[in-house]
Amino acid sequence: MNETDLIMDRCEQLATISSQPDRLERVHLSPEHKAVNALVAEWMSEAGLSTWQDPAGNQCGRLEGREPGLPALLIGSHIDTVPDAGRYDGMLGVLLAIAVAGRIHGSHNALPFALEVVAFSDEEGTRFGMALLGSRALSGSWNEEWWSLADKDGITLAEAFQDFGLDPARLPGAYRRPENYVGYLETHIEQGPILEDHDRRLAVVTSIAGARRYAITVTGKAGHAGGTPYDRRRDALVGASELVVEVERISKQRGVIGTVGRLQAFPGGVNVIPGVVELSLDLRAEFDNDRDDALAELWAVVDEICTRRGLAFETRELYRADAVPCDARLMRAVDAGIRSTGDEKPMAFWSRAGHDGMAVVNLTPIAMLFLRCRGGVSHHPDEHVKKSDVTAALDAFEAAVLAIAKEKTAR
Ligand SMILES: [Zn+2]
Repeated sequence: MNETDLIMDRCEQLATISSQPDRLERVHLSPEHKAVNALVAEWMSEAGLSTWQDPAGNQCGRLEGREPGLPALLIGSHIDTVPDAGRYDGMLGVLLAIAVAGRIHGSHNALPFALEVVAFSDEEGTRFGMALLGSRALSGSWNEEWWSLADKDGITLAEAFQDFGLDPARLPGAYRRPENYVGYLETHIEQGPILEDHDRRLAVVTSIAGARRYAITVTGKAGHAGGTPYDRRRDALVGASELVVEVERISKQRGVIGTVGRLQAFPGGVNVIPGVVELSLDLRAEFDNDRDDALAELWAVVDEICTRRGLAFETRELYRADAVPCDARLMRAVDAGIRSTGDEKPMAFWSRAGHDGMAVVNLTPIAMLFLRCRGGVSHHPDEHVKKSDVTAALDAFEAAVLAIAKEKTAR
């Protein structure tokens, strides 16, 4: 079996390790997580790496450089999934990293740094509603309050650690030290259609979008649908609907991405004017100030809508992550890697989705390589990549690692 076939075959194998019989779902600290860590450790050993599971449940492997104990280039991605997932989001990046390490081990061309491959335990946040738990532990950006987060069965993160055979008290052992790393490189499917639309296979990621998420409540007054004339209505849902349309208008105009993914009207009777509406807002952009300017305009417009309609509104920020720029030196290496596959002018654009790099940047500079996926589809079983694109990604990834090595030697 050639390298690409082996990677594709391993994606299939990982896709069978699921908590659901008919679809892929593999969450943090589950029996399936344990099973994939064991399998990934086996593949890491075959590639010539020494392996261990860190105190956060991240599966790790290490290939020494020219001499033992050198700082490492961290490469990898995440091994957990969303519910009803595809088979490439995260997993493909882990398998490509193992294959790159295997190639370098096989070439006996020791690098001026070690390679550390990581399969992050949790990126999606499916189980505990908090994303990036694996990479936040590794990068030392842990919050003690997270121990009491609970899953849908009421099992807390602390209990889940113990059930998995990990000791919460030992978590700080997962924190890495910046002086031991030279950078982080991840390959991931694009999860969007830009590469496909431009008929290109690979791209350099320039930054990972910052996102802000809000819970918004619009309050009016419930009343009888038949008996309340329009001039006396304070219909929260009609006001919220205007808000939703404004989110789209402002986002398009300002080149940011705004989404209302959830909306619920109360009391929810067919013959009752909605008195309260709760809705969500997810707003992301390449640059934080663009995002925040769009938000300021939106709140001003919502204020005007609510005043005009006799409504009140309240907002509560649920999540905030600032945009994370990729490192210029590492981006040059990714660009050189893509060029080595015959693409003379590699595309470069920002990631609309979040990635482990957002946490890892607290430890070491980051960069990413994007790989085309069919129709831009992800977080869905229809996720699909071309075998020839995987081959190109593997070649580009290896060439990028070698470019970093060359640059480090020259300095
Ligand atoms: Zn992912």
